[in-house]
Amino acid sequence: MTMKTEVAELLVRLGVPASQIDTGTLKVTTPLTGEEIGSVKKATVEDVNAQIETAHAAFLQWRLVPAPRRGELVRLLGEELRKAKDDLGRLVSIEVGKIPSEGLGEVQEMIDICDFAVGLSRQLYGLTIASERPGHKMTEVWHPLGVTGVISAFNFPVAVWSWNTALALVCGNSVVWKPSEKTPLTALACTAIMDRAVERFADAPAGLHQLALADRVGGAALVESPRVPLISATGSTAMGRQVGPRVAERFGRSILELGGNNAGIVSEQADLDITLRAVVFSAVGTTGQRCTSMRRLLAHDTVYDEFVAKVKKAYATVTVGNPLASNSLVGPLIDKFAYEQMQKALADARALGATVTGGERVLEDEYPDAYYVRPALVEMPEQTGPMLEETFAPILYAVRYTNLADALDTHNAVGAGLSSAIFTLNMRESEQFLGAAGSDCGIANVNIGTSGAEIGGAFGGEKETGGGRESGSDSWKGYMRRATNTINYSTELPLAQGVSFDF
Ligand code: NAD
Repeated sequence: MTMKTEVAELLVRLGVPASQIDTGTLKVTTPLTGEEIGSVKKATVEDVNAQIETAHAAFLQWRLVPAPRRGELVRLLGEELRKAKDDLGRLVSIEVGKIPSEGLGEVQEMIDICDFAVGLSRQLYGLTIASERPGHKMTEVWHPLGVTGVISAFNFPVAVWSWNTALALVCGNSVVWKPSEKTPLTALACTAIMDRAVERFADAPAGLHQLALADRVGGAALVESPRVPLISATGSTAMGRQVGPRVAERFGRSILELGGNNAGIVSEQADLDITLRAVVFSAVGTTGQRCTSMRRLLAHDTVYDEFVAKVKKAYATVTVGNPLASNSLVGPLIDKFAYEQMQKALADARALGATVTGGERVLEDEYPDAYYVRPALVEMPEQTGPMLEETFAPILYAVRYTNLADALDTHNAVGAGLSSAIFTLNMRESEQFLGAAGSDCGIANVNIGTSGAEIGGAFGGEKETGGGRESGSDSWKGYMRRATNTINYSTELPLAQGVSFDF
């Protein structure tokens, strides 16, 4: 069976209407082999604008459905996702090149966020605030916001959608989703799954969730529409630089989840065995194509040689190949451009005096149109050049440090501020790292790698990572509008701050 046939069968099983399968001009290829696996119809700007109107009309009804009832829709979505887990996980692996357990793990993350959002639907708590005026009551309440525009990246093609959609729906919003042009098939599948949940739920208005298979031009329509009060955009910092100001210009709100340049500090007091496992998973897992992938290793001078030797040994044994045809742990890069960017970064590093181990293309004869690489370990004389930027590939730059204060300076001296880790058994070091003058990232871990966050925490980062927070904790507040209500139940009209205004 060709991969195209398998994909068509998966899409049918996942409930995608035949009219949407392999019927458009936008070609989809799999990074596993480079072969075409389908095609889809591209949405125009007019299509996107019409979808926004439909979603707005749905919002006007949905906001009136009590939040715990809205949670019921997300519970049904979670149920449908459980049934679809194997097929959707497989489709993620084919469309993005993830190893099977990561494809399935991504769907599990969708189920987890649905469970979280169902509970949340009964906990969209406001506040009661003490009023300074007698006979007055002050409260703070949270209301639905409107159409949520979700723009997602290729590397988590389905999880990021679910983080946003599950929360947006319980918060009373409708959704228009523009996925990456590289991953329209998993988007069609998610939409079919969502549609099934909607069909099972009488209170859900038609058009509550809309899929816009648009390119950046169509995406811009979403970004610029005054009908879309919130844009949640996940992707590169370059994308955020374009999208953020355009949303701000119209006083819209944005949740920006952008690039990372995540580091791990390996102290002289680290448990090097668990550190090795954590570092290798973070650096080479998902072929270095996670926003939280570890890209920089700052190792104490006393352990640097021993630890870097261990990493090199692990890198030499880690299997690279088609994860659906073998048990390999490292699949392909998404495309040729990603490969070229990786080689450019390695060449730039070499020109700065780095020693590069690995990084070369492999399996070219077997897969001339796919881009498999050995993960690269790059020993830099100092943190400079490409080490300061995110290259979306498995490159781990390593430098030495001699005291933690310097290591923290180096750690924080990059544009991005997403995830970070320290490996140490010394409580003073870990607390320093987690403290106000420590890691400047949105995620700071101890004795855990930089990647693989759980959905219960707020996810996102500072600086060029965009400042947005999604998923757990109180991230839901980003999807709602806040109102402060003051109620006078007295017979007087006292003014705040003792102001008198008698007439
Ligand atoms: P990308 O920036 O190329 O594209 C992301 C999305 O933005 C796509 O849907 C794309 O079509 C859209 N887009 C780009 N420019 C746009 C514009 N001007 N207007 C409207 N839409 C626009 O990113 P990618 O290559 O798909 O993904 C990899 C990047 O995403 C990496 O930088 C990675 O770190 C980042 N990422 C961040 C997070 C996070 O949570 N912080 C999660 C996943 C990926």
